[in-house]
Amino acid sequence: MKRDYYDVLGVPRDAQQSDIKKAFRKLARECHPDVNPDDPHCEAQFKEAAEAYEVLSDAEGRAAYDRYGFDGLKGRPMTDFEHVGFGDLFNVFFGGGMFDSVLRDAGGGMWGAATGSPPPPRGDDVEVTLELTFAEAVFGLTKEVEVRADAPCEVCTGTGAKPGTGREACPQCHGSGRMREVSSLGGFGQFIRTSTCSVCRGQGSIVKEPCEHCRGTGRLRGTRTVSVEVPAGIAHGQRLRLTGQGGAGAQGGRSGDLYVAIAVAGHEHIMRDGDDLIYRLDITMVEAALGYTGYVPALDGDFELTLPAGTQPGEVKVYRNRGVPVLQGYGRGDLKVVVNVLVPRHLSDEQRELLEQLALLTDDRNYEPDQSFLDKVRAVFRQ
Ligand SMILES: [Zn+2]
Ligand SMILES: [Zn+2]
Repeated sequence: MKRDYYDVLGVPRDAQQSDIKKAFRKLARECHPDVNPDDPHCEAQFKEAAEAYEVLSDAEGRAAYDRYGFDGLKGRPMTDFEHVGFGDLFNVFFGGGMFDSVLRDAGGGMWGAATGSPPPPRGDDVEVTLELTFAEAVFGLTKEVEVRADAPCEVCTGTGAKPGTGREACPQCHGSGRMREVSSLGGFGQFIRTSTCSVCRGQGSIVKEPCEHCRGTGRLRGTRTVSVEVPAGIAHGQRLRLTGQGGAGAQGGRSGDLYVAIAVAGHEHIMRDGDDLIYRLDITMVEAALGYTGYVPALDGDFELTLPAGTQPGEVKVYRNRGVPVLQGYGRGDLKVVVNVLVPRHLSDEQRELLEQLALLTDDRNYEPDQSFLDKVRAVFRQ
């Protein structure tokens, strides 16, 4: 059972042509495969709307339909929508024919891609991985990476033309870079579909005599060394983009970009928490009880640290501005030294006796708890 064309487009029977056009345009937008790639109803819905629009947008067709319904359309040339691919249908609409203007004159940006000359062929984007030590990531450096990518041909300097020769207008598109194809969709009449010229790939001109070295492409694959400035404070997993350092474009087109993926090695004693460094300082139980003086091997030089007698596990000492330089900012994060107290294992008889004596000589006063351990750990990590 076919649905009434006015119902399909959702317009009253006395609708103006402009309203019919507007209604169809709206439906076409909603059904575009780029908008609803997975909706199986879209294709059927769109074809139904296209058929309704085909009839109602034509004065004769509309009059016949108004008068006799579907019977009035018998013998009229109609588009066989069942046998037109959904994608093809939309492609036709892109082409500068009726639908193109129907869809685009609402100011819809999504249809706009079909117009204008395409940019010259751009080079490929290339990604490389750069492995850094922990300290290199913290302080930054300039490092060289090997990049395998297209490079401009040195014989023709990237033009693709044999040295001494130039370019000439493309024989297929006569310099416009676009091809106009006339396609017929039955009752829809003829549609002019424009596409990028396949000979000159939209450039409008071709090389007269191709460079023999690069066979006219203007580029050759090669390996080159690129110097990468790694900013201080970069973190594992971040990517740097070097604009125009990727593959060369064909025949003088713009180069692609180079992406440098950063991989940072871990550190034995130091962890990173954003711009803060967290250093684990191991001291013995006895050092914690009697007091400790030693060196902390910070990334930018050792420094002395003294802990008072009775230092508890999890105690945190904060050194301002000794952490990671703030990436693309000012100053540095903090260095936080976290005390880890080592408790002796594998005790000899003599050691055990001494500790048992100590146990007899100490009482609750010696073991008064202070701030809880978890609170200290929490303070290390900024909330
Ligand atoms: Zn051409
Ligand atoms: Zn060349």
